[in-house]
Order: sequence, then C-alpha cells, then structure tokens
Amino acid sequence: MSGPFDTDPLNARALADLHAARLRLVANHVPAWIALYEAGSYRCLFANRGYAEAFGLTEQSIVGKTFGDIVGAEALAAVQPAVDRVVREQVSVIYERELPPGGGAPRFIEVHLSPHFDDHGTLLGCCVLVNDITRHRLAEQRVRESEARLAKFLDASAEGIVFHKDGVITDANPSLCALTGYALDELLGRNILEFLMPDEVPKVREVMLAGRETRYETCARHRDGSPLPVEVIVRTLERSGEKQRMSIVRDIRDRLDSEARIQHLALHDSLTGLLNRAAFMERMAALVERASRDGEMLALLFIDLDNFKRVNDSLGHLEGDQVLVTVAERLSFALRDSDLVGRFGGDEFVVLLTDLSSREDAKVVLQALLSVVEVPVRADGRALSVTPSIGVAFYPDDGRHADELIQHADAAMYRAKARGRATYQFFEPALAETAYADLVLEAELVQALTRDEFELFFQPQVDATTGRLSGAEALLRWRHPQRGLLGPDHFIAVAERHPLMHDLGGWVLRQAALTARRWREQGLADVRIAVNLSSMQFQLDGFIDTVREVLSDTGARGEWLELELTERMLVDDIEHAPQTLAALRSLGLSVSMDDFGTGYTSLAHLTELPVDKLKIDQSFVARLPADRGAQAITRAIVQMATGLGLDVTAEGVRTNEQWQLLSGWGCGQLQGELIGPPMPAATFEAWARTR
Ligand code: C2E
Ligand code: MG
Ligand code: MG
Repeated sequence: MSGPFDTDPLNARALADLHAARLRLVANHVPAWIALYEAGSYRCLFANRGYAEAFGLTEQSIVGKTFGDIVGAEALAAVQPAVDRVVREQVSVIYERELPPGGGAPRFIEVHLSPHFDDHGTLLGCCVLVNDITRHRLAEQRVRESEARLAKFLDASAEGIVFHKDGVITDANPSLCALTGYALDELLGRNILEFLMPDEVPKVREVMLAGRETRYETCARHRDGSPLPVEVIVRTLERSGEKQRMSIVRDIRDRLDSEARIQHLALHDSLTGLLNRAAFMERMAALVERASRDGEMLALLFIDLDNFKRVNDSLGHLEGDQVLVTVAERLSFALRDSDLVGRFGGDEFVVLLTDLSSREDAKVVLQALLSVVEVPVRADGRALSVTPSIGVAFYPDDGRHADELIQHADAAMYRAKARGRATYQFFEPALAETAYADLVLEAELVQALTRDEFELFFQPQVDATTGRLSGAEALLRWRHPQRGLLGPDHFIAVAERHPLMHDLGGWVLRQAALTARRWREQGLADVRIAVNLSSMQFQLDGFIDTVREVLSDTGARGEWLELELTERMLVDDIEHAPQTLAALRSLGLSVSMDDFGTGYTSLAHLTELPVDKLKIDQSFVARLPADRGAQAITRAIVQMATGLGLDVTAEGVRTNEQWQLLSGWGCGQLQGELIGPPMPAATFEAWARTR
C-alpha cells in the first residue's frame, strides 16, 4: 500500500511531482493571491492562479518574469519603497493599494510582503500575499459617506436633534442649540433630564427606560429658565458603531398658542372677549358647587341694556358693537377678578358675584355697576344713554342650581325694566310665578293667532255736545279656550316681548280696516275706527309700508282710521316720530295721543309732534268731579289742547256729571261705560242702529 507520505527512493521524482501538485492545489484554493520572488533578481519563482491571472498571465508563464514586468512601471514605482524596506530592514511589510482600473469597478488590495531567509539568515526571496479588500473598503466608504450625510442633515435640519446614550448627550445639532439656548459644549456629556422642567422628569425617565421608539410631548427648560413646550420623537439607531437614541425635538409653542386661541374662541364671546353662555354656565356650575360645600353666598346678575335696540337700529351695528364692547369693559373693570362675567348674546350680560357675606354687599356692587355702566351715545344728534336693567337672584335663597338662578334673575330683570329701567330688582318668589305664567302665555299666544282666537271689540265715542256717534275704538280681546274672554291687560305685555306682536298688530289693523269698510258699505256708520298701536309696531322701519299695504288690500281709506299712540312711544322715538306721524297723516290717517297725562310729555314735544287729538286718561276722569286737583289738571289739558288746535277725547266717562263738566270745559268727544262698553262687532252694530 502506498500513501502520500511514502519515501521510497524509486518514487522520489514522482513524489516531488505529487508535492508540487498538492502545493499548487492548496495555493489555488486559498482565497488570496500568492507569489514568491527571488531576492536580487526579483524574478517570480512561483505564483498561484489568482495572482497570475490578476496580471493577465498563467501560473506557468509568470514564472521567470521580473516583478517590474509583471506589475508594470507605474505600480512598481508605487510599491518600490515597501520592497526596499523588506530588503533593507528584512522585516514584513503590509501596504494597501488600489489596482489600476481595468474598466470595471475599483478594486482594493492589501499586500503582505514577507522576507524569506536560509538557515544562515541570508535573504533568499520574498513571499507576496495579496488579499482583495474591495468589499471592506467600499463598506467603510459607505459608512463614512453616511456619517457625512447624517452630519450634513443634522446641520441643515430646522428641527432640534439630540443624540444620547443612556441619557447622556453625545451630540446635538445647531437647531437644538438654538431652540434651547445652549451651546453644544454645554450639552455634551450632560444628562437629558437636566434640561427638562422638574415636573416632567419622571415621565421622560420612564420613556427612556422603556427604550421604545415613540413620540411624546413634554416641557423642556430653556437656558433662560423659561418653559419650552416640545414634541419629542425618539428613534434608536447605530452611530459610530454603537446603539444610540436619537430624539427629534420640535418646538410646539406656536401649535399650543393656536390651540389655546381656538380654546379661547370656543369659550369666549368673540366681540367682547367675555365668557360665552356655555363657558359661563360651566364655570358657574362649579362655583355653585363650591358655594354649596363652603356655605358661601352668591349673587347672579342678569343684565339687559336699555335703549340698546335703538342705538343699534339708528346708528348701525358697528356703533352697537362698540357700545357692547364698552359695556363689557366697564363691567369687567367694576368687578373683582374672582367674579364671573359673561355675555349671553345680544345685549344680555350675566355676572356672578362670589364671596358675598350679605345682600348689602351685592347692593354696593349693583350701585357701582349702575353708575359705571351708563354709556352716553349720540343718535341722530340727540343724546341718549344706554343703561343697564339688572335682575338679581341669590344663591342659595333664590335657587340652588345655575339654571334656576339664571331663570329667576331673568324674571327679576324684566321687573326692573318695567319699573322704569336703569335700576335693579331682587328676585321675589311672586316673580317666578309671573314668569312661569308668562312663558305659558307666550306659547299659547303663538298658537292663538293661527287658531283665530282673537277678536276686536268696539267701544263707541260720541260728540260731547250732540251725543251723536263720532267714532269707535277697536279693543283687542282673546277668546282663550280655557280661560274665557281675556282683555289686553292679560297678554299685551307678554306679546310685546315677542316678535308675535308684529303679526298681532297687523291683524288688528287689517280687521279694523275691513270693519270700517263694511260699516260704510252697510251705511251703518261713517266714523273713524281708532286702533291702538304697540311701540314695537310703531318703531318698525317698514311700518308705513304695512299701513299702505293694509289700506290697499282691504280697500279702506286712510280717513277711516285713527291710530292711538302713547306718550311713551312717541317720546322714545322722538327722532323718527315726527316723520312717521307726518307720513301717516299724508295717507289720510289721524293720530291721537292715548292715556294723556300719565306720561311725561313736555309741552314742547306736543308742539313738535303732528298729532290730531289727545285722549285724557281715564284715571283723571274717574276722580271727577270730587277731586279738585283732577279737575284742575283735566281742565288745563283740555284748554291747552284746544289752544294748540287739537281735538280732545275723555276716556272712562261713567257719570252724567262727568259728561257735563267735560263738555263744559270744551272737551269734544267722550268715551266710557256711560255711553257704551267695548262690544263685539255685531253687538256694536246693533247698538249703533238703535241710536
Ligand atoms: P286704552 O287704549 O286706554 O283703552 C281704553 C281702555 O279703557 C279699554 O280697556 C276700555 O275697555 C277701558 N274703558 C273704557 N271705558 C271705561 C270705563 O268707563 N271705565 C273703565 N274702568 N274702563 C273703561 P281694555 O280694552 O282692557 O284695553 C286696555 C288697553 O290695552 C288699552 O288701553 C290699550 O292700551 C291696550 N289695547 C287694547 N287693544 C289693543 C290693541 O289692539 N293693540 C294694542 N297694542 N294695544 C291694545
Ligand atoms: Mg286706546
Ligand atoms: Mg287710553
């Protein structure tokens, strides 16, 4: 049996060949290029296939060629110093070089030159071992490039970026420095947590420990100590050969600002900046709860502005808005910070006074508000003043819940208005009943018109000297399905707070016009029908048009109608009243001033206002003849009116004595139970026929 290590001399030659073949086999399978050069001559003694082919040669053809022939002059020059060192210093040398581009991608090699000696230390040759390191080089290059790219990106990013390892800052970009106010060297090596507002530390520490890739909001601390709300996006990434945490830090002050603005808008009235209804109710509920816990007393003020509608109508919305803003400012100014102020819309404001020890405390504030919240305005050259009417409900006496307090303060506010404005009114239980009854009534009134439950009654007016029928006053009645026949005192005041009054007033005018026409067609009575107006109708811009429309629709003539206005209505609208009256008269209608003597019309006004007639209020007539004061006043009114060329009618005449007195003073017309009560149309027509 012969094996590879046999040493039979007969086979020595074959054995040498076998060794050479094995050497070549191994050499050709090593993933490196190998060559052996002879010292002195630099001739190649041996090369494996890889080495030979790298230079375009074969294992056979390369042998005997010199190093310079094989690598070329250029490469020889480049590696000569390394070769010289091996020869001179007899040490191994390693160098790297790039192979000259052979058309393909660049290749890099690492070359080991190892000297080879005989037993006496004489240099025989040099072993060359070449490794292809192209892959490593390219990988390194990619890392270097990506580092450079990251550095560029960090520099250019508008967002703050900070790197840290276990919380210790290793790098940060210029934007982060700008955002936080710190220079880079003030950050490096310090813990991230040192740069947070103290409250935020536990939360952020938890995020860091969890090590997740996440997003959260926190509050950093600027170098100047101020809080800096930020959004943080955390990523883990490899950098410089180790895992690091990268945090992108985004300034969210702007976003929080706009969120706060949106929040503000949602809670505040955009015109005045006061709390809106929803926000006021919410805060009030909380304060009521606190008051109930602490046994505190609260006062809710419901404020409605007097004359505001007139300012808005005559001066326009811009001016109206200005008044509201002024009122809001003054309210806020007069109150303490702990009090709540809100606007419920229109000219309605609400105030919640906290920390009261008695009702007297509230009175002091109310007096202050009344004197402070008076806004003088000039409307059409005339001085007007916008004043508050205030209703007040106390917690806990007048209500235990926010809603109830608002409702009761509102009811009290209406009473304050009725009492002559620019005043305040504390809530009383009786008001709640009225307020509730009013609500019910209002709902019923809305239906009454469509259900045809209204009816006009007519009360005759006669000539004081002849006793002949000279006119009729149309008086509104409501045939209420449950409560029976109701006079206007039961519902007019409620209707006037509601747009319904427009329709109702229009209905009355139309009915009166139709009746006037029927009476003429039937040859019954050629007298004017007097119609009572509500201030709401009279102050309406399109009122004249409505009158014109009613006349043309019903075929009635203006001369057949008379309109009754109260002093208050005329004085409240003194700017427009003269024109409106003139326009009505040009349509043929006559105008009388109702309930004269109860208001405060100055004589000067009387001369300015083109009215045709005064109606002396029945309260004067009722005191005749016994009351000497009433006598004097009534006589003076009659004389003054006739002196101004006005007709005079006395209302509420009940006795013959009254009739005699009044006609004696020159009063032209009489109306009252003595002559006839208000009657349904059919009854009135029958009554008129018998006269
Ligand atoms: P007014 O215009 O002063 O009407 C006269 C009121 O005196 C009527 O009350 C009438 O019934 C009452 N009266 C007449 N003669 C006598 C009498 O001898 N003694 C007494 N004690 N009273 C007498 P009425 O019908 O209850 O109307 C009350 C008020 O309601 C009216 O006062 C008027 O201001 C208002 N009104 C009536 N109808 C209408 C209407 O259609 N529209 C508007 N806006 N108001 C109306
Ligand atoms: Mg009247
Ligand atoms: Mg009257």
